[in-house]
Amino acid sequence: MPTQGSFQLDCIHCKKPVIFSIQDLGYQDKLVECTGCGKKYGFGQETLHRQLKKFAALCRQIQESEEILGSASVAVTVGQNEVKIPFKILLSRLKSTLDLSIGNERLSITFRVEPCTN
Ligand SMILES: [Zn+2]
Repeated sequence: MPTQGSFQLDCIHCKKPVIFSIQDLGYQDKLVECTGCGKKYGFGQETLHRQLKKFAALCRQIQESEEILGSASVAVTVGQNEVKIPFKILLSRLKSTLDLSIGNERLSITFRVEPCTN
């Protein structure tokens, strides 16, 4: 199973980044601990677990499609002119973030893509 990339969330309490991998999602009872304050985060909640897995799959799909996305572009009309923006540039600017509500707390989870080899 490809395990490129990892997730990052900012700790609700101390704002330090908490990093975990896609592999961690394989274990529903696994807890990821914040290195700053020790707060534990779990993926046991069914909705959260499902959404994170879908998010990972989406991000992976984008990575896998990079080859064809490199020759695709989005046309944007600026005044009289049409400007073509390659998908590749759009994607490199895209910050893959998923905003979730867990109970009363809002959590922003970022998908960190490992550096490309090109
Ligand atoms: Zn913390």
